[in-house]
Amino acid sequence: MGEVTGFLKWGRETPRRRPVDARLHDWQEVYEPFSRDALQIQAGRCMDCGIPFCQTGCPVNNVIPDWNDLVYRGHWRPALDVLHSTNNFPEFTGRVCPAPCEAACTLNINDDPVAIKSIEQAIVDKGWAEGWIVPEVPMRKTGRKVAVVGSGPAGLACAQQLARAGHDVTLFEKNDRAGGLLRYGIPDFKMEKHLIDRRMAQMQAEGVTFRTGVNVGADLPAAKLVADFDAVVLTGGAEKPRDLPVPGRELAGVHFAMEFLPQQNKVVAGDKVPGQLLATGKHVVVIGGGDTGSDCIGTSIRQGAKSVVNFELMPRPPEQEDKPLTWPYWPLKLRTSSSHEEGASRDFAVATKRFEGKAGKVESLTACHVEWVKDEKGGMAMKEVPGTEFTIPADLVLLAMGYVHPVHEGLVAALGVEKDARGNVKATTDGAGCYATSVPKVFAAGDMRRGQSLVVWAIREGRQCAREVDAFLMGSSDLPR
Ligand SMILES: Cc1cc2nc3c(=O)[nH]c(=O)nc-3n(C[C@H](O)[C@H](O)[C@H](O)COP(=O)(O)OP(=O)(O)OC[C@H]3O[C@@H](n4cnc5c(N)ncnc54)[C@H](O)[C@@H]3O)c2cc1C
Ligand code: SF4
Repeated sequence: MGEVTGFLKWGRETPRRRPVDARLHDWQEVYEPFSRDALQIQAGRCMDCGIPFCQTGCPVNNVIPDWNDLVYRGHWRPALDVLHSTNNFPEFTGRVCPAPCEAACTLNINDDPVAIKSIEQAIVDKGWAEGWIVPEVPMRKTGRKVAVVGSGPAGLACAQQLARAGHDVTLFEKNDRAGGLLRYGIPDFKMEKHLIDRRMAQMQAEGVTFRTGVNVGADLPAAKLVADFDAVVLTGGAEKPRDLPVPGRELAGVHFAMEFLPQQNKVVAGDKVPGQLLATGKHVVVIGGGDTGSDCIGTSIRQGAKSVVNFELMPRPPEQEDKPLTWPYWPLKLRTSSSHEEGASRDFAVATKRFEGKAGKVESLTACHVEWVKDEKGGMAMKEVPGTEFTIPADLVLLAMGYVHPVHEGLVAALGVEKDARGNVKATTDGAGCYATSVPKVFAAGDMRRGQSLVVWAIREGRQCAREVDAFLMGSSDLPR
């Protein structure tokens, strides 16, 4: 370890957010650059704890203590190699990962954790700036053809691993640009999209063919894909949103978040979106307190909403986690994203009862406060708190209550793959035949298999699935798991 007592000398520091007034005028990333010297100090806080819980807390099992040590000593290039050995796209996770590694950091038991995520981002950003990240073209081609359907982080990671193993990989995407929710869900102020283009160029040079604008199961028969390729990987995400079937749901102005967010990403990319759904001058209500809801808030505020209110059905979590109870696991606590601090008012334990409007357009939302009580079976049930009903103006309501499972119509139905109890494509992640679906030579990974999740889990599954596909095609695989 570079500085065994570093954690006693130096406190945690992370990049600062740009002032709200300044950042609301653009769509650029919210965080200011952090000096490399400051980051080396932060890496020096890693305390040689002996059992790196951070590494198991990280879904791709990033080898965090090793790269912390290398960064502290100024060995950035070897740090990049260690980082890339477990994660294809650290520039994505370094920006949007919620960092379960930091919750698991041993220093987090009674102090502030090491700034792992910021160090990860700095390593890979330096790697790109220095020109160290170049295509890794395979020495030999296998002559095997693999189709990957869906170009989110799972599909991208899977395709890159398989191309590096020498297979001919075609990545199909129904949208006009690749990237999945990285491209058309997560706003630019959280992650700018040139980062995806840069990786795509690397992957193309490594032999991946991108075919965008192809909806497999509609534009291209799924059976043809299975016939034409030696293996097919389904990484189509969990795109079926959870609805809110209350009176007035049909009114104009009540939309799913994913009818709203991608349009703004397209506009930022330079596209024209006729009739764009805008929050400008409107009273906006965002229903749902997760990442999607937070992204709707930041986007609405940048578009010039008159007001933004955010409702969450669950009670307000505590300001601080109960560390002895939760460490090294992901704790329940109030999280305030950059978007939350930009001006939304948040309320918890709120259930929406109805929408009302005139001439078919929503004008108000009526809700009440709820409490969660034990029912006769011991489960938690929601109960209205009498006398708490209220009505607020609402010209635009954005439903951001999560995603139930993949879309079944089209690809999934056409292939006839078995589904699990939650409606995801069924495949295991351990043991023989993992990531394989019930249909021969068809595999599944990412949100399409596990349900709505995180970018880092999608990368993990994409990588692991690639290894299984490689072993299926070649009899064994040298790809890391
Ligand atoms: C608004 C929003 C914000 C989020 N913010 C964060 C965050 O900050 N941090 C984080 O870690 N996670 C975040 N998530 C979750 C994260 O984005 C997902 O878990 C992750 O992208 C899943 O990756 P995936 O590759 O499995 O699927 P996706 O990213 O959903 O990609 C699936 C792709 O498959 C394509 N596809 C589907 N069917 C077909 C077909 N039949 N033919 C061709 N293409 C098809 C889709 O168009 C899509 O591009 C967010 C999610 C949303 C919706
Ligand atoms: S990918 Fe996420 S969990 Fe893993 S080291 Fe990076 S920030 Fe931490």
